[in-house]
Amino acid sequence: MVNHEFEAVIVGAGGSGLYAALEASKGARTAVVSKLYPIRSHTGAAQGGISAALGNVEEDKPEWHAFDTVKGGDYLVDQNVAMILAEEAVQAVYDLENRGLPFNRTPEGRIDQRRFGGHTRNFGEAPVRRACYAADRTGHMILQTLYQQCIKNEVSFFDEFQVVDVILEGRRCGGVVAVELATGEIHVLRAKAVLFATGGFGRIFKVTSNAYANTGDGPAVLARRGVPLEDMEFFQFHPTGIYRLGILISEAVRGEGGILRNNEDERFMERYAPTLLDLAPRDMVARAMLTEIREGKGIRGDRKIDDYLHLDATHLGRETLKTKLPDITSFVQTYLGVDPAEAPIPVQPTAHYAMGGIPTDTHGRVVADGQGTLYEGLYAVGECACVSVHGANRLGTNSLLDLVVFGRRAGIHIAEYLKNAPEPADGAEAAEAAQRWIETLTDGKKGPHGGYIREEMQEMMMSDVGIYRNGEAMQRAVETMKSLRQRYAEVRVQDTAKQFNTDLLELIELRNLLDLALITAVSAENRKESRGAHAREDYPDRDDEGWLKHTLAWLEGDEVRLDYKPVDTSVWEPKPRTY
Ligand SMILES: Cc1cc2nc3c(=O)[nH]c(=O)nc-3n(C[C@H](O)[C@H](O)[C@H](O)COP(=O)(O)OP(=O)(O)OC[C@H]3O[C@@H](n4cnc5c(N)ncnc54)[C@H](O)[C@@H]3O)c2cc1C
Repeated sequence: MVNHEFEAVIVGAGGSGLYAALEASKGARTAVVSKLYPIRSHTGAAQGGISAALGNVEEDKPEWHAFDTVKGGDYLVDQNVAMILAEEAVQAVYDLENRGLPFNRTPEGRIDQRRFGGHTRNFGEAPVRRACYAADRTGHMILQTLYQQCIKNEVSFFDEFQVVDVILEGRRCGGVVAVELATGEIHVLRAKAVLFATGGFGRIFKVTSNAYANTGDGPAVLARRGVPLEDMEFFQFHPTGIYRLGILISEAVRGEGGILRNNEDERFMERYAPTLLDLAPRDMVARAMLTEIREGKGIRGDRKIDDYLHLDATHLGRETLKTKLPDITSFVQTYLGVDPAEAPIPVQPTAHYAMGGIPTDTHGRVVADGQGTLYEGLYAVGECACVSVHGANRLGTNSLLDLVVFGRRAGIHIAEYLKNAPEPADGAEAAEAAQRWIETLTDGKKGPHGGYIREEMQEMMMSDVGIYRNGEAMQRAVETMKSLRQRYAEVRVQDTAKQFNTDLLELIELRNLLDLALITAVSAENRKESRGAHAREDYPDRDDEGWLKHTLAWLEGDEVRLDYKPVDTSVWEPKPRTY
C-alpha cells in the first residue's frame, strides 16, 4: 500500500475536474487522479458547443438563457442556480478564450455563435444563436486548454489510477483509495478536500453516446458510503445517435439547419413543435421520433424493422460541413459509409446524459439531505454531480458550461476552505476494505461471467427504463437489478495478472453500473408523473402539486430509500411547456 498526502484531491480530469484543479491549485497542493489519461476524458468528445449570451451575432441576454434552462428542464431546475449559470457564462467563455481556446470567429473577429435546441430569444419567441464553438471539437479544445494550464500550475497528475473508495468519517472527508492500473497496487491519497468529477454513466444503457469509461464510479462509490443521489430518474436520450451504434451526431447539425425526416420524407417536427421544430428540447424530439417509429413511419433497416429516421444535412452544402462539422462528416463516412453532403444520415435516439447525480450546493459542496446539511471537505461537479441546474432535461451546450462555471466555483471554494480546514479523516478502514474486495475478486474461485450480467442490465435498462416508461416494466427492472447485484456478489476475475488488469477494472466498473441502475430504476418507478426526460405512459401528465420536488435516494444494502428536496422557483412560475 502506498500513501500520499495532498491538500486537495480531484477525482477526474474532464472539463469540470481540470477547471476545479486549476483554481484550487492557486492556493493548495493539488492532485488530480484519473483512470484515463486526462485528455481522453469524455469531455473531449463534446462536439457542438458551449452556450453563453454573448450576443455576438444577434441580441441575447443571460436572463433569456436562464429562462430557457428552466423551461427546458421542465421546471425542475433550481431557478437561482440557473441564474448563476447564465450570468457567469459570459465571463466563463471569455476566460476560456483568454486561456487560449481557439473558437470559431465571425468575420469581425468575435466568437461565432450558432443555434442549439431549446435556446430562444425573448422567452421562447424564436431560436437564438447562443452556442460558442470550435468547429465540432469544442470539448476537445476545452480539455487541451485546461490541461496545459494545470501543468503550468504544477498540479500533480495520477494518470490511470482507478478510485475505488472514499475516506469518510461521519460527514468529514479525508481522501480516496485508488488502484494503480499499471501495477495493481493500492494507493491511499489523504486530503482535507476531495472533489469528485467522474462524469456520466450512460453505460447502464445498451445504446449510448457515452465512452466505455462512463461508468459512474464517483456517484456509486459515494452512494455505498451513505451519500444520497439526486434526481436519478432523469436520464436524457439524445435524438441523433448513429443508427445501431449510438455514436453521437451533434445537435449542431440541426443547429446549422439539418432536418429530421420520416419514411414519407416529411419534416415531422412541424407537428410536434411548430415554433422550434427540429430545435425543440431533446426529450421532446426523442419522444417524437419514437412516436413516428411506433406509428410505422420509421425507415426500414437491414433487420427488416422500421426503426430509424433520417437526419438530412444535404442542403447545408459541402463548405459548411467542412468548416463547421468536419468530425461529424468523417464519423458518418467512417461508420456508415454515407457522405452527408449527398445522402441523409440514419439516426435513432441514444442514451446521452445523466441529469441526476451527487447533490451539491452552488459551491460544489456535497449535500447530505433534504434540509441542506453539508459534508465537510467533500465536493462534486460536472456530470457526476447534480447542482439542480438541468432539472428534468438538460439543454444542449449547457453541460460544458456547467463544467466551467461550477468547476471554477468549486475550485475557488476549496482553496478558501483549506485555509481553516480540519485534519483529514483517517484512511485505514477504507484502504483495508478496498484491499479485501480486490482480494475476493481475484481469489481464483469460479463465478459467473461479468459480461453476461452487464449485457442483461444494459438491455433491460434500455427497454424498461428508457424513453417511454410504465410502472409494470420499471418494477420488473427493479427486481432484475436486485438479482443481478446478487449474482455480481459471486463474480471473479479470470485473469489474475497485476499489471493493467482490464478484467478486474471491468468488474470494478460493473459494480458501480449495477448500483446506479438500481437507484435509477427505483427513483423512476417512484415518480408518478411525466416531466422532461421521465415520460410515463401510465402517468402522462406533469403533476406540479404532487411532484415539483427533487428526489433523493440512499442505497441501503439491497434496498433504496427515498426522500425529497424542494425546488427553487423564486423567479418564474411553472407553466406548461410548449415550443
Ligand atoms: C459524444 C458527446 C458529445 C457531447 N457534446 C456536448 C456538447 O457539445 N456540449 C455540451 O455542453 N455537452 C456535451 N456533452 C456532454 C458533456 O460533454 C459531458 O457532460 C461533460 O463533458 C462531462 O464532463 P465531466 O468533467 O463531468 O466528466 P468527463 O469529461 O467524463 O471526465 C470524467 C473523468 O473522471 C475520471 N474518472 C472516472 N471514474 C474514475 C475513477 N473511478 N477513478 C479515477 N478517475 C475516474 C476519468 O478518467 C475522466 O478524467 C457531450 C457528451 C457526449 C458523450
